[in-house]
Amino acid sequence: MAVQKVFPLSCTVQHYAWGKMGSSSEVARLLASSDPQAQISEDKPYAELWMGSHPRGDAKILDNHISQKTLGQWISENQDCLGSKVKETFNGKLPFLFKVLSVETALSIQAHPNKELAEKLHLQAPQHYPDANHKPEMAIALTSFQGLCGFRPIEEIVTFLTKVPEFQFLIGDNAAAQLKQSSSSDSQSAASALQSCFSHLMKSEKKVVVEQLNLLVKRISQQVAAGNNMEDIYGELLLQLHQQYPGDIGCFAIYFLNLLTLKPGEAMFLEANVPHAYLKGDCVECMACSDNTVRAGLTPKFIDVPTLCEMLSYIPSKDRLFLPTRSQEDPYLSIYDPPVPDFTVMKIEVPGSITEYKVLEVDSASILLVVQGRVTASSATAQTSIPLQRGGVLFIGANESVSLKLTVPDDLLMFRACCLL
Ligand SMILES: [Zn+2]
Repeated sequence: MAVQKVFPLSCTVQHYAWGKMGSSSEVARLLASSDPQAQISEDKPYAELWMGSHPRGDAKILDNHISQKTLGQWISENQDCLGSKVKETFNGKLPFLFKVLSVETALSIQAHPNKELAEKLHLQAPQHYPDANHKPEMAIALTSFQGLCGFRPIEEIVTFLTKVPEFQFLIGDNAAAQLKQSSSSDSQSAASALQSCFSHLMKSEKKVVVEQLNLLVKRISQQVAAGNNMEDIYGELLLQLHQQYPGDIGCFAIYFLNLLTLKPGEAMFLEANVPHAYLKGDCVECMACSDNTVRAGLTPKFIDVPTLCEMLSYIPSKDRLFLPTRSQEDPYLSIYDPPVPDFTVMKIEVPGSITEYKVLEVDSASILLVVQGRVTASSATAQTSIPLQRGGVLFIGANESVSLKLTVPDDLLMFRACCLL
């Protein structure tokens, strides 16, 4: 009998403290919708849903006909279902981890090393850098999703230096002057001025950072209390971050980094060495399997300042939205294909007037998440049809096509992670 290559998964929830609480979390709502037995605790954060075979959250297989209990076990015994190129390139492992995130309080400002640097850091300091892989990430908003991503254009940073003297104090007059002069000159001198400014901030004495931050918080609070609008220096966001991370150097990072508010379906791609932070909202995220993170603030954890200041890409840019392309073959399919081999994410939006939809076969194992709608899935190798509703997650082996019957006339919204080599 042919190996069954399509089956539903029960995925791991991570209850990190920064997650949204109880049923305000999209992670919890997806869980409750897909599994009527799931009990949602309103006093517990539901931060992440892990859809993959990571050892710390290997998905369970929801099919009694299959002898393996988890996706990781199944993949290790059915390597061909990864797809021939994926199997070869990634040594028989699923190269990506697919997630849903529900963020209530800001995650640390961070960057991830490229492969070359990851290998070096892992050799030198395995306690901080647990593996030798890079960790590109992509976030696609499910609800309004706020984050910081990449350095702002120089002119914007210069404006903040003028309007926020506490910020300028930490940077120092010399570095600030260098940045002001560089704004209209060549990109190399802009990058080096930016690096100098950022390094000055990160190397500031903790005591001085706390003093300046307290001055700024006091000033904004007084102005807000007097009815003045402080949005030109992101007053509200600064107070919010300071409340979450009092005295943290990362509060000042909002003046260096672009603030993005993604609408549902909009995405940002975090390539190697780009500083970023997720601030608030719900998203689907896909990443290469790695844990290498260099932090820059909004965290009580270890910050490797020399590595951080050295590695970052100091390229000012306003355009940080990552745009999907429309599929030529399938009018309902948008493809978010970042310039890394590890993963691609597809968004599938089928109007409720359609009764049957075919999920295209690809030469890669993939994971499909239903965010909206209700279907039954069938494939050549599955013994029975599989009912899927909001929150349902399906594993699809390489080169397997899946037919979906829409069982209610609601629009269908799904995301699918795979690896297109
Ligand atoms: Zn990250």
